[in-house]
Formats: sequence, structure tokens, C-alpha cells
Amino acid sequence: AKEDGRHVYRIYDDSMSKASAAKLSMMADLREALVNKEFQVYYQPQIDLASRQVCGAEALIRWQRRDGSFVPPDEFIPLAESSGIIADIGCWVLREACRDCAGWRQAGFTHMSVSVNLSYVQFRDGELECRVRKALDRVGLPAQALELELTESMLIGESPHIQKQIAAIRAMGVNFAIDDFGTGYSNLGYLRRFSATRLKIDKSFVMDMGGAAKDKPLVRAIIQMCDSLGLEAVAEGVEDNETVRELLALGCHQGQGYLWSKAITNDAFLCWLSEYGK
Ligand code: C2E
Ligand code: CA
Ligand code: CA
Ligand code: CA
Repeated sequence: AKEDGRHVYRIYDDSMSKASAAKLSMMADLREALVNKEFQVYYQPQIDLASRQVCGAEALIRWQRRDGSFVPPDEFIPLAESSGIIADIGCWVLREACRDCAGWRQAGFTHMSVSVNLSYVQFRDGELECRVRKALDRVGLPAQALELELTESMLIGESPHIQKQIAAIRAMGVNFAIDDFGTGYSNLGYLRRFSATRLKIDKSFVMDMGGAAKDKPLVRAIIQMCDSLGLEAVAEGVEDNETVRELLALGCHQGQGYLWSKAITNDAFLCWLSEYGK
């Protein structure tokens, strides 16, 4: 395989950048990674700011290669999307997340929900509704305990194919959140048509709230908009208590960030859950 790698590299060296060759080889590795069980789902808690209770967790995929190194999701998710393999990876994440959330609830954390990131590619074959149904049923997780996170860019296209699937999954009782809000588009028309329950304020706005930039007025405006649209606001990237105080004052509902925990393995998360309330 090493020989092959070098060979491929030489062929493309003239016409393509080193970066492209690395991408091609990573794409090939991605397929094997799923089979070789190199992926793991980590969890990051979400906190209800007013009550300080844990209300859920976001599932975040981790890829640890056999040499022990971690590949950041921001590096491999776009590649997995362009090669289509994200459909299989995403389905696997969904099943893992539903199983683990059912486990938390069985361990006594009965109010817990889990949030799973979706890629636009997962809408392509029209099987998503069925996959969600199966992932819930096989572990007996109520639909209300699952939230699917979609980015603005996926909603803006207004593709009827995607809209229909979202409506069907929504009708099942599954919740939707708008992810990375504020980073995508300025056309907000989709907010009226899309029945999300939560909106996640991108961490780039939250992390600089205390700074000189105009991020605090922006966060305030987003939270006001959530209020008038009947959406709960979730702040991402909460790293200190000062930010929690400011978010609470602005009426933000939930937070997620390194202040409470980074994303950790399911075992570590269960320990974290039992420690947190004490
Ligand atoms: P995201 O959905 O916006 O996830 C939040 C990212 O912010 C995570 O990065 C998380 O570790 C990081 N984060 C959380 N709290 C803090 C904080 O307080 N400070 C800072 N600086 N960062 C914080 P991560 O895990 O590297 O994931 C990156 C992106 O990869 C995610 O962004 C999401 O778009 C994508 N991703 C992760 N897992 C999946 C997956 O299973 N499927 C899909 N389609 N995408 C995924
Ligand atoms: Ca997310
Ligand atoms: Ca996000
Ligand atoms: Ca992101």
C-alpha cells in the first residue's frame, strides 16, 4: 500500500499540488477507517443556563488513525462529503448516538437528549427517514430525545427533496436545530419555513463576546430573533463564567463549551454526568 501511495503521489505531482495528493490518499483511508473501526463518537454536554442542569449532548465524531494520531473533523468531513462516504459514516454516527443516549437515560439521566450533525449528502438517497426510524427503534429511544443539526447552507437551497424529508422526520417527533448560525447566509427567509426548535449561535460570536468587537450586540440580536420566532437559543463555544452571565442576561437558553467539558468518550461522559450534579 505504501508503494501505491508513492506511485499515486508521483503521477499527480506534476498536475496537482501536494495538498491534493494528500486529500486523495485521505479519501481512500476514510473508506477503510469505517471498516477498521477507527471512528469514535465523542459527546459534549449542553447546559440549561438558568437551571444549570445538563439537558443533552452533541455527538462529535473523532477519527484516530492506527498510528494513534487524530484527524480533525474539519479536515476529513469535507472530504467524506465530496466522496459520498459521509452517508455511511453519518448513518453510523446516528446509530451510535441513539444507542449511547438510550444508555444515559437507562442510567438514570432520563431527561437527556442527543444532537447529531447531518450532512446534506445524507438527504441524497431519500433513505434518511427510514434510517432515523430504525436508529431510534432498535434502542427504544423516543424521537423527542433526538435532535438533528443542520447548517444554514443546507436550508437555504430550499430543495423540495430535502424539505419533504425534513418534514417527515419532524412529524416523527425528532427535533431540528440550526447549526453555526450567523456564518452562512444573509437571507433569513428559510427560518420562517423550517420548523426548527433550537438555533445554535456560532462560537465565533460567543467566544469574543467580552472583547472589543461588536459581537455582544450581534448575540443579543440573534437571541431576540430566536425569541420572536419561538426558537430556543444555544450558545456554542462558552469558555468562561463571565460569558455565562452575559448570555443569561441576554436571555439565552442553553450553552455548550469548554467551560463545562470538551467532547469526551461515552464512558468518560457517563462519569462526567454522575459527577456534574454533585
Ligand atoms: P460543530 O458542529 O460546530 O461542532 C462544534 C465544534 O466546536 C466542535 O469541534 C467542538 O469540539 C468545538 N467546541 C466546543 N466547545 C468549544 C469551546 O468552548 N471552544 C472552542 N474553541 N471550540 C469548542 P469538532 O469536534 O472539531 O467538530 C468540528 C466540526 O466537524 C463540527 O462543528 C461539525 O460541523 C463537524 N462534525 C463533527 N462531527 C460530525 C458528524 O458526526 N457528522 C457531520 N456531518 N459533521 C460533524
Ligand atoms: Ca454541530
Ligand atoms: Ca456549530
Ligand atoms: Ca462548525
